[in-house]
Amino acid sequence: MKILIVLAHPEMQSMNGAMFKQGIKTLEEEGHEVKVSDLYREEFNPVSGRRNFKTTYDAAFFKQQLEEIHATDTAGFADDIETEQQKVEWCDLMIWQFPIWWFTVPAILKGWVDRVFAMGRFYGSERCYEEGVFKGKKAILSLTVGANENAYLKNGLHGDLYGVLKPIHRGMLKFTGFDVLRPHVIYAPVRQTVVQRELELARWEERLKHIFTEHSIDVDIY
Ligand SMILES: Cc1cc2nc3c(=O)[nH]c(=O)nc-3n(C[C@H](O)[C@H](O)[C@H](O)COP(=O)(O)OP(=O)(O)OC[C@H]3O[C@@H](n4cnc5c(N)ncnc54)[C@H](O)[C@@H]3O)c2cc1C
Repeated sequence: MKILIVLAHPEMQSMNGAMFKQGIKTLEEEGHEVKVSDLYREEFNPVSGRRNFKTTYDAAFFKQQLEEIHATDTAGFADDIETEQQKVEWCDLMIWQFPIWWFTVPAILKGWVDRVFAMGRFYGSERCYEEGVFKGKKAILSLTVGANENAYLKNGLHGDLYGVLKPIHRGMLKFTGFDVLRPHVIYAPVRQTVVQRELELARWEERLKHIFTEHSIDVDIY
């Protein structure tokens, strides 16, 4: 199968970097084809604007979605956006590897979505959710969080993690048609021992070996 791993962490020696490398290794050993978008190392520019396009629909007033529809019709996306869009279109499974920052993805990943998930190309004209462009593809969030698991339970300090992730699960992934798999979470890796972190890497490896047998979750449960 074809897998895209998107990494959003500034330090490759981090736990997220280790999960990213483990993911590539395991999936390739299983015979899958892997492509990556390592956003920091590639210095992906997350700031959306006219730089997204080679074409111009309205030079007097910039409205992103109208420019996106025009670019879709005229092959007008800037090269960096076109490259990322083709990777998303190519894959059967998309993995986002990131630390949770302020209850969401790091800004570089949010900017990647803002620029790459374009109207016309990735959604629009009632192509969303069950009729989404990426119907049949799977997506999974693989993330680390700073707090302990108890803090992310329903009555915990931060509230239920599924509630925190809902804007991503529903608003970005399900909206564009992906089947969303149960998120893979590492709680407070900073407070774990080296052995515990190695066990986390082994847990990820084991899960990835069977990832294509998993069923999607209901993103509306919270
Ligand atoms: C801007 C910002 C906002 C944040 N907002 C939130 C929030 O809203 N909610 C929340 O819960 N947390 C939040 N945090 C905390 C953040 O989510 C955690 O710091 C992060 O998830 C930890 O993951 P990491 O990859 O950065 O860990 P790191 O600190 O990089 O890694 C943990 C340890 O793992 C070690 N390690 C690396 N590779 C291996 C390996 N192969 N084997 C064994 N050990 C290894 C590293 O050396 C390190 O000691 C925020 C942090 C920032 C900076």
